[in-house]
Amino acid sequence: MVSRLVLILGDQLSPDMACLRDADRARDTVVMAEVRSEATYAPHHPKKIALIFSAMRHFAEELRGDGWTVAYTRYDDPENAGSIPGELLRRADETGATEVIATEPGEWRLIEAMRDCPLEVKLLPDDRFVCSRKDFEAWAEGRKELRMEWFYREMRRRTGYLMKGDDPAGGKWNYDKLNRKPAARDLLRSAPMSFTPDDITEEVLALVQREFPDNFGSLRPFDFAVTRGDARRALSHFVRRLLPEFGPYQDAMLTGEPYLNHALISPYLNVGLLSPQEVCDAVQAAWEAGEVPIQSAEGFIRQIIGWREFVRGVYFLEGPDYPHRNALNHQRKLPPLYWGAETRMACLREVVAQTRDNAYAHHIQRLMVTGNFALIAGIDPAEVHEWYLSVYADAFEWVEAPNTVGMSQFADGGVVGSKPYASSANYIDRMSDYCTGCDYFAEKKTGKGACPFNLLYWHFLNRHRDRFEKNHRMGAIYASWDRMDEARRETILEEADDFLTRMSRGEAV
Ligand SMILES: Cc1cc2nc3c(=O)[nH]c(=O)nc-3n(C[C@H](O)[C@H](O)[C@H](O)COP(=O)(O)OP(=O)(O)OC[C@H]3O[C@@H](n4cnc5c(N)ncnc54)[C@H](O)[C@@H]3O)c2cc1C
Ligand code: SF4
Repeated sequence: MVSRLVLILGDQLSPDMACLRDADRARDTVVMAEVRSEATYAPHHPKKIALIFSAMRHFAEELRGDGWTVAYTRYDDPENAGSIPGELLRRADETGATEVIATEPGEWRLIEAMRDCPLEVKLLPDDRFVCSRKDFEAWAEGRKELRMEWFYREMRRRTGYLMKGDDPAGGKWNYDKLNRKPAARDLLRSAPMSFTPDDITEEVLALVQREFPDNFGSLRPFDFAVTRGDARRALSHFVRRLLPEFGPYQDAMLTGEPYLNHALISPYLNVGLLSPQEVCDAVQAAWEAGEVPIQSAEGFIRQIIGWREFVRGVYFLEGPDYPHRNALNHQRKLPPLYWGAETRMACLREVVAQTRDNAYAHHIQRLMVTGNFALIAGIDPAEVHEWYLSVYADAFEWVEAPNTVGMSQFADGGVVGSKPYASSANYIDRMSDYCTGCDYFAEKKTGKGACPFNLLYWHFLNRHRDRFEKNHRMGAIYASWDRMDEARRETILEEADDFLTRMSRGEAV
């Protein structure tokens, strides 16, 4: 019988992938390849490339140990064809295979490449999610608006997580109101688990150093888990040590403390080292054992079976043009401060520096600092999208684009969120200690030292009045703008324009 090729991509490192279940280890050849097209479609953070390549190499070893024949191509292999279809063709030539079994890739770009591949490709649905693409389509069918909260409740009912019969455990679906505390420094707070690179990872780090010397981001220290075993250890550590306080502090930000109570498991989930079900099972078990309060368990499970599944559903439902949308017609270029150039804004400086060092920022930093600034400054969402896709270790288009283009930039016109996440300095000042170390003053609305977030917030609302004025959640904001005297409104808009002009000229604002 002729061998078939079984394709495993860099974010498909799960032992129960649909394509492996469909294949025969005695007959078929698993194909894995570190290719140029994937490593360079965006200028990825060096830590992200190293994480994926090292996790791939470890996974290939596990598959071999499990009896599979694996044809693995390293990045610097002189025979490397440079793309996934190219590698499949090369391996087909070698083995005589004409058929490929693959699990559907997580982005349109690769789905299209697989469809165009001149081999017979059987694409199986990726069933590593709580909600399949088909089920999401059925849920979305006929709804005027897609709202995460309704979807989330449906997923709670379906999975039974934190449920008492048909009702939510504790009596409420959502404990967000208890979960908005600013954090204080706590020397006893655990850090996320870190892992020392083994020989395989060291070899990958040397390769990434050599091949991607100019990509934005620090390669070392590199302490990500790169195997399923270590990812599971990181999960247990989080559940035991950090989850109990996750809820109250999930929106907080502190200078020099990039992780606080966050899990740091998104890269492991997204490459396939962890499954959403095992993560939620661990949280549910800790809650049942009385080790974790309901608001932390609920806050966390909502992120996994709510937001994570919802954004995937939206990405596939909306189609390949989704990442290119620009509903607010924002055209300004992304300023160099996003790539580490000097800025006087302490919040942006801190979040960009953490991003550079760790390939990580937590949700509120991404949404309310870098995202919020790009939104109110009117930055082209395509450039914002490319930045987020590049700089975070967990960034894959199916999850990054709805968060960036949708939730954060409102460039999808309101598919993901019902109102834009635009805010003045108030929010950052309340939820962080960034403003104390800043050249600007959070409480100053105009004049020398006025925080740019205060100026740009009104500039944004004023620019888009036609679109947002009728939004029932924003009417009160426009009413307070209208109550300001006209001279003050003019000053705000002039100072905002001046700021934007100086930023676009390349000044260190
Ligand atoms: C502009 C922007 C871009 C983002 N890009 C990505 C991305 O490329 N990849 C990515 O995985 N997440 C992305 N997120 C969502 C979120 O910021 C990260 O999942 C989270 O910061 C990961 O860190 P953590 O594991 O410590 O998460 P925790 O705060 O501990 O949350 C737990 C888990 O919930 C999931 N989760 C939480 N929020 C979301 C969300 N909004 N969408 C999807 N999953 C969520 C993640 O798997 C995460 O690991 C983005 C958010 C914003 C605002
Ligand atoms: S004052 Fe403004 S720019 Fe400075 S840290 Fe606070 S929000 Fe950021």
